[in-house]
Amino acid sequence: MMAYDTDPTLSPIGDREDKPSLDDLRHATPQGILRAAMAAFGDRIALVSSFGAESAVLLHMVSEIDPAIPVLFLDTGMQFGQTLDYRKQLAARLGLADVRDLRPAFKDLAAGDPGGNLWKTDTDACCHIRKVIPLDLALQGFDAWITGRKRFQSVTRAALPVIETANDKTKVNPLANWTKADLDAYVAEHDLPAHPLVQFGYPSIGCWPCTKPVETGLDQRAGRWAGSEKVECGIHTPGADGAKDFDAIGEGL
Ligand code: SF4
Repeated sequence: MMAYDTDPTLSPIGDREDKPSLDDLRHATPQGILRAAMAAFGDRIALVSSFGAESAVLLHMVSEIDPAIPVLFLDTGMQFGQTLDYRKQLAARLGLADVRDLRPAFKDLAAGDPGGNLWKTDTDACCHIRKVIPLDLALQGFDAWITGRKRFQSVTRAALPVIETANDKTKVNPLANWTKADLDAYVAEHDLPAHPLVQFGYPSIGCWPCTKPVETGLDQRAGRWAGSEKVECGIHTPGADGAKDFDAIGEGL
């Protein structure tokens, strides 16, 4: 039994003959959520993936629905070499046809981080140049994006809704309700390759200067910006309209 809310009167949306009802998303499987969102937004939705420790699950799910969906990857210039290799190998294995590498602008690096060491003194500014600005630009062409965030990852994500809005865009979190056991079972069932750093104790993988292995029993994201107050890179900061639960969005999707 998976960890999402279940209702025996509801079947997964994607398995239905009739038009998907977005009202049912809270009870749907991740695949049902993805099918409904991808059908609702068409070519105006993208998946944002870090090609990190658990990314293979969501990438595999979308590849089975539409391998041509745009996949946005933040190639910050500070990714582990293993992540760049994994991104290429996994995209090829899954047949993903439109993976886009988002890189920071040369002018922003020249002005704000000419030495490539801004992460040592101002991680928020570094993330802004290398992640927030490139993603904001890339998302201008979309109305919605899919993320791989889960509630179990950290206390700061414990109330993550399946659907939210930020900066006038809809964010879809199909795996919000899933547990680590759900993910592991899916990986085993589909024989998905692991990120090479997982075996070395990295349960969450970002840029190399800001990612450390995590001891057993700590939050999955405890190794991100370890030793500082920072817990998110800035791309998931709620916008002026804030985060909303699915019920508040209703037919607005
Ligand atoms: Fe810079 Fe670290 Fe943010 Fe990567 S995670 S953009 S290196 S501060």
